[in-house]
Amino acid sequence: MKANQEDDFRDRIATVNSDGERVWIYPKRVDGPYYKWRKIISYIQLIVLIGVPFIKYNGKPIIMLNVLERKFIFFGNVFWPEDLYIFGLLFITTVIFVVWFTATFGRIFCGWLCPQTVFLEMVFRRIERFLEGDASKQKKLNNQDMSTQKFFRKAFKHVLFYAISFFIANIFLSYIIGMDELIKIVTAPPSEHIVGFIAICIFSFVFYGVFSWFREQACIMVCPYGRLQSVMQDVNTVTISYDFKRGEPRGRKLKKEQDSDKGDCIDCKKCIAVCPTGIDIRNGLQMECVNCTYCIDACDDVMEKIGKPKGLIRYASHNMIEKNHGYKISARTIFYGIVFFILFSVDLFLLTNRPRVSAIINRMPGSLCTKISDDAYMNVYRSTLLNKTLDTHKYSFKLIDIEGELHLGESHIEIAGEGLEKFTMKVILPGKSIKKRGRTYFHIGIFENDKLIHKVLAGFRGP
Ligand code: SF4
Ligand code: SF4
Repeated sequence: MKANQEDDFRDRIATVNSDGERVWIYPKRVDGPYYKWRKIISYIQLIVLIGVPFIKYNGKPIIMLNVLERKFIFFGNVFWPEDLYIFGLLFITTVIFVVWFTATFGRIFCGWLCPQTVFLEMVFRRIERFLEGDASKQKKLNNQDMSTQKFFRKAFKHVLFYAISFFIANIFLSYIIGMDELIKIVTAPPSEHIVGFIAICIFSFVFYGVFSWFREQACIMVCPYGRLQSVMQDVNTVTISYDFKRGEPRGRKLKKEQDSDKGDCIDCKKCIAVCPTGIDIRNGLQMECVNCTYCIDACDDVMEKIGKPKGLIRYASHNMIEKNHGYKISARTIFYGIVFFILFSVDLFLLTNRPRVSAIINRMPGSLCTKISDDAYMNVYRSTLLNKTLDTHKYSFKLIDIEGELHLGESHIEIAGEGLEKFTMKVILPGKSIKKRGRTYFHIGIFENDKLIHKVLAGFRGP
């Protein structure tokens, strides 16, 4: 069945024409309270994003996400591959949080916090407007034949875009390998850090491609969050919405029509002109909407000029508009919230009770049980201890659930932050503690300042 003209938007996206070619979007500049707040929040976010890799604790970055070595540092806490189960649960918790948040507030993250939107709208788009002017001037320049002036203007813009992309790539990489390692790569000849050099070049080209050319397509076609939003949102989700009850029937009003039954929307299409994804919010919730709030500011400005109340486009749920009531919390929101808080509590418990050491204690390969007196037997163990913190610590060892002795050769083992030590220990058990058949299992306690911090299961081979 052929869709009628009103529903045409459902069959196409604004950034592709009927021949399948890209339609370049020239969003008009808009100023307004929402844009001002977004600017403040975006610049705080950029300062934090760029500043964090420079901040260190105990000589280490406060945040490092070294996926290559599967080692993560958060505010002085080092997470090793064996802690990945915590990350697995944290990932599930984050997904539940995203579902909960999106079901309640829509794609608010995309407009206010997503680095793609922040960099595109607050850095690249602003530079472009500064160099080439607002939407109509940019369009005119792009449609002009190539001239020396156009060439230099475009070349300057793209060199600047590439330089910023290179900077972003460096910051991005510093979160993975740390700022010290990054400085080594940047300052040494490329031949000494060929992998790091290639990584920076690839990241720079990707960021340059995304911010100078791909732009809103990343949100519309690539971002899985955008594509999944329709299954997360419902009629109670508060998102950027057009008040169709107040706005329709839309249309320009002549002076004498002021009291007619026409709605408040004067069909000026300013909300479309400012939209960075080129959609018409009056068609309702659409996958392309990144909740950037530009259409709210544009429409509020129009409403002010025509003497109507602001908020024809505003944060509201479909039900709030349809049934004309305030925000009502839905059962779905409550359910997701409960699941999130349960998972979050488990995460906190695991994070705060995570052992600060990792130990492997095995019997020395090939060693036998040695009889050292009439009623005492000895096993020798090969041990490996990893200090998972950033500080140096001293560790001592004791048998904690069996009668016997543990000999280390020294009173304690001192290990530097993130250090690993291999050593041997001897365990002597009286005959009565040893099982007649099979192995005798017991726990070796690892103590720090006489406080038990971890225990490891070990097996004793009898005579
Ligand atoms: S900006 Fe407001 S008045 Fe103008 S078309 Fe959009 S919704 Fe209607
Ligand atoms: S519809 Fe409004 S909020 Fe959504 S992307 Fe367009 S301008 Fe931004």
